[in-house]
Formats: sequence, structure tokens, C-alpha cells
Amino acid sequence: MSPDRPLQDVSQAVELVRRHVQPGATVEVGLSDALFRTLAEPVFCDVDYPPFTRSLLDGYAVQASDVVSADGAPASPAAVLDVVGQIAAGAVAAGEVGPGQAMQINTGAPIPPGADAVVPVEDTQPADDGRAVRVLRGAQKGESITARGTYVTAGREVLLPGTWISPLEIGVAATAGATRVRVYRRPTVAIVVTGDELVDVDQVPRGAQIRNSNEHILDALVRQSHCKPVRLGVVSDDRAAIRAKIEAALACDVLCITGGVSMGEFDFVPEVLSELGATLHVHKMATKPGRPTIFATTPTGRAVFALPGNPISAFVGFHLLVSVALARLQGRQPAQHREIVATLRGPVPAPGDRRSFQPARAWLTAQGRWEAEPLSWHGSGDPFGMATANALVMRPAGSPPADAGDEVMIILVTHKG
Ligand code: AMP
Ligand code: MG
Repeated sequence: MSPDRPLQDVSQAVELVRRHVQPGATVEVGLSDALFRTLAEPVFCDVDYPPFTRSLLDGYAVQASDVVSADGAPASPAAVLDVVGQIAAGAVAAGEVGPGQAMQINTGAPIPPGADAVVPVEDTQPADDGRAVRVLRGAQKGESITARGTYVTAGREVLLPGTWISPLEIGVAATAGATRVRVYRRPTVAIVVTGDELVDVDQVPRGAQIRNSNEHILDALVRQSHCKPVRLGVVSDDRAAIRAKIEAALACDVLCITGGVSMGEFDFVPEVLSELGATLHVHKMATKPGRPTIFATTPTGRAVFALPGNPISAFVGFHLLVSVALARLQGRQPAQHREIVATLRGPVPAPGDRRSFQPARAWLTAQGRWEAEPLSWHGSGDPFGMATANALVMRPAGSPPADAGDEVMIILVTHKG
């Protein structure tokens, strides 16, 4: 790999990921398993909805003409109607409502034959020891009645393919009678970390050792992206070992590897990928952090992301590129990252000749404006400053330092409860 290869613009890199990663396989699942997945086939409603003509509220089913005078005003004196029955939700009226009659009705109960309006209980008074009801206002024909099929008629498409299933769409599918739906399969993402210096997080680092935090960050990011992490552990900076691990990882849909991608003597990942016949679409991005980022596809169509070893570089690279691939595989069409204007609440240094991404805490003010406080950190090897980050402040290459009060572009990266 030539050290002077031109750096790729991040928007170009995102475009290449979108172009080379296609929607994955689909699977039919029970409705509750469809949450946070993308629908692959439409959902149709099997019945008219509501399935029968029903009352919108608790009150009395009446004939509207009984409670309205000829000029449309409330009957005067107020109509007193005989109460001829009661219909609870789930029950069917025994008889019908004739002229001068009313039936007590509950929300969601079927409208009895003969009635054409429901008067809310608040606008009535009991009369004749409950055998009659005084209706204190007029009612229009059809009032507080939902006719069968008002919402949808049988056979209507109620969810389109490509819909992201949140609890509301679960409710729609359930109402439509869909107990099973076809969704995109959750991609499996192999996580491989490289580095002879890495020790497990339950170890006390000695000498030149550092804790392997990336594996945990990536595992969490993959789960946050609704995919399945497959942790393949640490591989030492040894060419053959890296090759064997990458070959094993290619059983997964996506491979995320950290470390070993720079220009160091032991950075074997780019060479090994080339040896395995992978095409390197992105190799070095004009971003800070994240210059040594790789996006490649293998001859078998697997997407490989090799991210720099520093935890924040890996985090930024995941958000910029890997998240796009994972969304594509799950049947979504991610746009370019949504950049939002925010007012800075602290300084951001000049980015130099690469577009910079700096962790920040962003919030929406009551006036609907975004503000962002850059977090103090000691560079991309320092994960501690990121603890409350939910955004990255993005500064274009060559721009001057920015200060509190300046407007900048930010990208939201993670939802904070
Ligand atoms: P590399 O990209 O392999 O040159 O690594 C860059 C820096 O990131 C080095 O200081 C590594 O020690 C550090 N690093 C690499 N892998 C990890 C990891 N899994 N967890 C935490 N830090 C790492
Ligand atoms: Mg390394």
C-alpha cells in the first residue's frame, strides 16, 4: 500500500458503503420478534376495521330525531327516553332501539339496530328510577359512532415493505391479524481486535499492556445497531494469525476489526485483506480521527471494516461507515449522516487538513435549537472524555478554530435515555 495514496472524503466513503452493501436475507418471524427490524413484505389487514359499527364512548344509543327538534336544536323540553337495555363491550344487543327509546352503551360496544347516535353519559340524567333517561342536548345522526370499516377495509395494505418496526407498527400488525411477518435477518458482525499489547479488562495492565476496550465498545455498538455480535477475541500482531482469524470471521455477514491498519511494521491487516482477494474500496479517509480506516468487500460479498485501534477512532469509524452498512443489510436506506446546526458551548480546535469529528454532548433547547458542548479529552486514545457524548462536532478541513457561540455542524451518534 502506497503511503502517499490520496485520502478519501468521508461522503465518498459513505457512498461506497451504500453502493457495495446490499439488503440481506429475509426471514419470517413471530410478531414480537419483529421489533426494531425492517419489514420485507407488506402487511395486509384481513378484516374490515373496526369489524362492526361501534360506540365511541359510554352513553346512550338513541335515534337522533328523538333528541333534536325540527330546527336541529336540542329537543325542548329535553327528551325523556325509555331505557330498554344495556350493551357492554363484547356483548350484542338483545333487541332494538325504537322511537322514544334509548339503550345504555359502553365504549366499543356494537350499536344496536334502530339507533343512529350515541349521547355521552355526561349529557344525560337518569329519570324514573333509572328506567328512563333525560337527554340534555341534541345529537346528530352518526354522532359518536364508528362505522364498520371506517379505518380500513379488508385486504388493505397497512404496512409497506421497508417500514422500520417500532412498538406502533407492532400494534398495527397485531390489529391487522398478522401473527407472523417477514423481516430482514439480523446481520452477524464478527469482532476481531488486534494487538500484542492487549489484555482482558479483568486484568491489571503491566508493562506496555493496555486493556482491550474496543471489543466491548464494538460489541455494544453492534447490539445498539440491532445486529448480532460474534466476538472472536484478540489476535496477536502476527501475519498468519491475523489471516486465520479474518478467514474464520468471514463466516459472518460483516467483519469489524480494530488495530493493525496503520503504516506500522506490524500492521498486517491491509495486506492480508488483499491476499484474501478483498477489494479495498476505502483505504484511508480524510478524517481526524480515523485516517487509517478501511472498507473492503471479499469475493464472497462480505463487508470488512478495519478501524484504527484507538477507541475513539474506532467509535467514530463505526458511526461514519459501519452503521451505514448495518442499516443497508437490514433493509434500510440510510441517508448521508444527518448533520444538524448547533451552537457551540465551548471551543473546538482547528481541524487541520482533515475533516474533524470531536465528541460532544448535544441537547435541544426549549426554543428548538441544538447546543453542543465539546468534551475535553486527551485525543483519540482517551475514552473517558466520551462518557456523556451523544454527538460529534464536525469541522470541515481547513476551517479555523471554533469558539463558544459559533454555529457548527454536529452528527447525533447515540441516544441517551
Ligand atoms: P493500532 O491501530 O493497532 O496502531 O493501535 C492504535 C492505538 O490503539 C494503540 O495505542 C493501541 O494500543 C490502541 N488499541 C488498539 N487496540 C485496542 C483495543 N482493542 N482496545 C483499546 N485500545 C486499543
Ligand atoms: Mg496495533
